[in-house]
Amino acid sequence: MKHFPIFMALEGRRVVVSGGGEAALAKLRLLLKTEARLTVITQSPASEIVDWAQDDRLTLIARPMQIGDALCAKLFYAANEDDAEDARVAAIASAEGALVNIVDNLEDSQFITPAIVDRDPVTVAIGTEGAAPVLARAIKKDLEDKLSPTLGLMARVGKAFRKHADALPFGRKRRDFWADYYFGGTAPNTEDEANAKLDTLLEQHLHEPERDGHVDLVGAGPGDPELLTLKARNALDTADVVIYDRLVAPEILELARREAVMISAGKEGFGPSVTQGAINEMIVSHARSGAYVVRLKSGDPTVFGRLDEEIEACDAAHINWRIVPGITSASAAVAALGQSLTKRGRNSGIRFLTGHDTKGFADHDWKTLSRPGEVAAIYMGKKSARFIQGRLMMHGADPATPVTVIENASRPSQQILATTLAELEPALTDANFDGPALTFLGLAPRDALAVADDYQMKEALS
Ligand code: SAH
Repeated sequence: MKHFPIFMALEGRRVVVSGGGEAALAKLRLLLKTEARLTVITQSPASEIVDWAQDDRLTLIARPMQIGDALCAKLFYAANEDDAEDARVAAIASAEGALVNIVDNLEDSQFITPAIVDRDPVTVAIGTEGAAPVLARAIKKDLEDKLSPTLGLMARVGKAFRKHADALPFGRKRRDFWADYYFGGTAPNTEDEANAKLDTLLEQHLHEPERDGHVDLVGAGPGDPELLTLKARNALDTADVVIYDRLVAPEILELARREAVMISAGKEGFGPSVTQGAINEMIVSHARSGAYVVRLKSGDPTVFGRLDEEIEACDAAHINWRIVPGITSASAAVAALGQSLTKRGRNSGIRFLTGHDTKGFADHDWKTLSRPGEVAAIYMGKKSARFIQGRLMMHGADPATPVTVIENASRPSQQILATTLAELEPALTDANFDGPALTFLGLAPRDALAVADDYQMKEALS
């Protein structure tokens, strides 16, 4: 971000525009919406500028700019549509302490004016750092269509009503009231209609019984935000509290409602950190206070997610809950190999195993797993790789059985280690993977892999 967006208070402050043609007019039309003290310096003012000066909406100095003209100015626009003159006046203004914009000269400007959607006091500023004015215009049009023309009026009336809304308890209840006002029912057309809507809604919300909390146990998928389900996205959009595991990608946390309370539960699968009891308590206490809690787990919450313990805690506290499934990392990892999890004639079933559980390395039916054609997706299998390798070999598994480890499946940092059972260790240790990794027993990447990664896809489609 080369330009930091801010909203500047211009009331009573001096803003100077040098120039009197179309470029100056375009800026002045925007600036006249503010309460700045405007000065225009030009030898040849357009007739509108003369009219505005006569109406006392700005001060016109009808001569070329001189040293001293920009003293005390906060902002200065060089809008002469003449490079040499703009450079001359910009240098004066800059030396006199004003922030300088040169129209159509991004390089030499100290600030830029964004495209603006005006629903005063609601103002949306759109900037592309000069990269794509066409895009800015398209976004502006989109927003103009979306935002009701009376939004500004609603916001003004709403602001004056704030003290009455304080009768509602802070938090969810008050938020719901405002959401109903701005987004529920029909938009008011006049101030009286807006006030009537506020009165009616306040009455309703004051007498509404306390809302019960709710817990959604949500799968965040393997990491790529595009692999979130729409349901998960909507849950994040409306959550009051998000309690997330360590493996949930930061890009996904970014999607949570801005006001949501974000709490890291630190743990993942059977790993150490915040105790399960403490997490259960956190979920329950937030839900008890009426919050909509999103318990966000990587992949699918029903796969090695210690989900049942949290469900039991909710049940014991009589709190409503729901499971929102996600894409488990085995699905993302196998996609990266260009393979399918099951295949006619190869494996008619697949096992999801964990490398270790609460008691240490997990025991499994090694004899069955050692048979040719068996396919298993091993979660949390990095530390236990040598143990698994040893058990399988001991039960007679073919040392040449393909084993593939996929680290950071679906993320830009994805890596694939294709090896065999005999070579799994030390190959895995040598690979030095430090992200989450999923191990496939019995699957190799498809030969002559034609599977495109996301980057190639975007290139191909552009
Ligand atoms: N509920 C999760 C699994 C939680 S257990 C799911 O459905 O995917 C944590 C293990 O999941 C990690 O040790 C790793 O084996 C695996 N895992 C999670 N995200 C992964 C990713 N992006 N790539 C590879 N493996 C991943």
